[in-house]
This record gives sequence, structure tokens and C-alpha cells, in this order.
Amino acid sequence: MDEITFEKDHILEGAVTPLLVWYRGAKRDLPWRHTRDPYCILVSEIMLQQTRVEAVKAYYLRFLQQFPTAEALAAAEEGEVLKAWEGLGYYTRARNLHRAAKQIAAQGFPRTPREIRALPGVGDYTAGAIASIAFDLPCPAVDGNVLRILTRLLADGSNIDDAATKKLFAERLRRVYPQASGEFCQALMELGALVCLPNGAPLCTGCPWEGICLAHATGREAQFPVRAEKRARKIEQLNVFVLEHEGKFALEQRPAQGLLAGLWQFPLRAGGDPAALGEVIAQRRAKHIFTHIEWHMTGYLIRAAACSDDFVWAEAAQIKAHYALPAAFKAFMPWLDRQHISK
Ligand code: SF4
Repeated sequence: MDEITFEKDHILEGAVTPLLVWYRGAKRDLPWRHTRDPYCILVSEIMLQQTRVEAVKAYYLRFLQQFPTAEALAAAEEGEVLKAWEGLGYYTRARNLHRAAKQIAAQGFPRTPREIRALPGVGDYTAGAIASIAFDLPCPAVDGNVLRILTRLLADGSNIDDAATKKLFAERLRRVYPQASGEFCQALMELGALVCLPNGAPLCTGCPWEGICLAHATGREAQFPVRAEKRARKIEQLNVFVLEHEGKFALEQRPAQGLLAGLWQFPLRAGGDPAALGEVIAQRRAKHIFTHIEWHMTGYLIRAAACSDDFVWAEAAQIKAHYALPAAFKAFMPWLDRQHISK
């Protein structure tokens, strides 16, 4: 081990106890922190991938009420699972969770990090989080959040978008993991969420690492983490046709592969003349941002002359109860209410 590695390990080692002490006093009361049930932890971790804690809370509680065990989830129809996930986005997560539940229902919950990692939809980070939170295994969970706080603590200029950096920090963490693995894992996440905030705006006063953090000591908090330049998102201009005929609305299913695979939507086209489809009653613009694509949508509420066979037609209540529509169409959902139609 070279001198710099030794010094960084030494700082990390010294960071463990103050972090745990801070966490025990400052942690938020989140619903998934009341359980060690690995299935519940799995559900929370999958939901938390790419979604904010505040948005996940209500979904988590509702989802577990509907599917309290892996067996209950395994027995559900895919449509039910997608409906319960409606609005959370990244629906592949819901399908993977459903597949994972079937595997767990058949074989029991896996016990080793390697077996947990083999569940559908579970990557290194999620496997580490489940192994440490549910089973107290010294298995680091390293994501962008954790890399941000650690690269600041160590004033480390490694590019955090590089997979090798993630590996390096996972190794460093593994060497200092305390026995309270689950708490430590959550404490790292919590520090990133509450104190060592992104966009160069950490709240160093009150941080348990204020006295040992190398970035803070040299006033360079904003220089870390170092990231690769982001690719610009592709912008797609789209028309959303909310077609209504005698209280029913046209829906179509997205292709089985790709973005929002298999979900339902209002007819969505790259072009098309709304007036050719019927009487245009209202118009509205909306934007939805995915990881690599932005949809710039113009929505048209249209009174159609008949129910075309090209679509599935359903009443508003049926749509709300049975069809999983992605959050991308949220701006157009109020059109399902009667007062818009009668205008
Ligand atoms: S002292 Fe500031 S920069 Fe360093 S870890 Fe704490 S909040 Fe982040």
C-alpha cells in the first residue's frame, strides 16, 4: 500500500465513528427504516433508484399494502404491478421487481451478496445496500451520492463517472466497514442527502466530517466530485391526441421493447393534423425529461366523430383504475374530467 492510499484509508477509518454518531441523531424517519425484512428493503431500494425519497414514501407504503410479501407480488398480474407503479417512472424496475419476487417466492431470499446481485434489476449498489441493511454484511453500496461525499472528504479528483472509481471506493470502504454495516451504509446516503449536497453547495457547518474533510480544509468543496461531461439529451417534438367519443378515450399500447415498453398512452405521433381527427376542444404544451431524451409535447383534446378501431377506448374511471399511463402524460390527465369535455 503506498503512502497516499495509506493516508486516505486512515482518514476514512477516522470518519466512521463521527458519521455513525451523527446519523443516530440526525437520521430521517423513513418508512423503510422500520424494517429489516429483505423483501421490503428490496422494494425500497428499487423504488429509490433514480427517484427522490419524498416521492417514494407514499408509493412504498401503498405497494407493500397491496403486495406485502414476495409471494403476493409473485402471484400478481403484470398489469396490476405496473398500475401500482404508475407515476414512479422507469417501469423496467417494476417488471424486474416482479421477476425478482417470482424467484424469491420459489427459492427464498438469497443470503449472499453475489446471489442478491443475481436478482433481476439488482446492480452492485442495490445488492450492497440490501446485503448491508437487511443482513449487516460488510458490503459497500457506492453510487454517485456516496462518491460525491467521499471524493470531497479525500479531495480525490478521480472521475466519478468512471467505473474504476466506483470499484476503487468500494474497496476503500470495504477496508473500514464497521460491524454496524446497515447503519453505516444508510449514514453515508443520509450525509449525501442532508449535508454534503450536490452542485457545490455542501452544508459543511454541522457536518460530522468538518474537521477532517480535505476539500473543506482547502476551501475546494465545489471542485469535487469530478465528472465526465454530460451528453446533451435528444429532443423529440411530439403530438399527443386525447381523442374523446361519448365519454370514452382512445388509448394505445407502446411497443413491447424500448422506452416505456408495454405501457399505455394517448395516441402519440411525431406529426399529424389534429383537425383531421375531429373537433379540437383544447390545446396544451408539456415537457417530459427522460435520462437521454426530452419529449416536447403539444397535446390536443379532440372530440372524435366515432370510436376508431385503431385504438382501445375506455372511460376515464377505467383508465384511472386499470391502465398504467406513464407520468409523461400527467399534464393531459385533467382532460379526462367531464367539465373539459362539455366546454
Ligand atoms: S465538510 Fe463539507 S465538503 Fe466535507 S464532507 Fe462535510 S459537507 Fe461535504
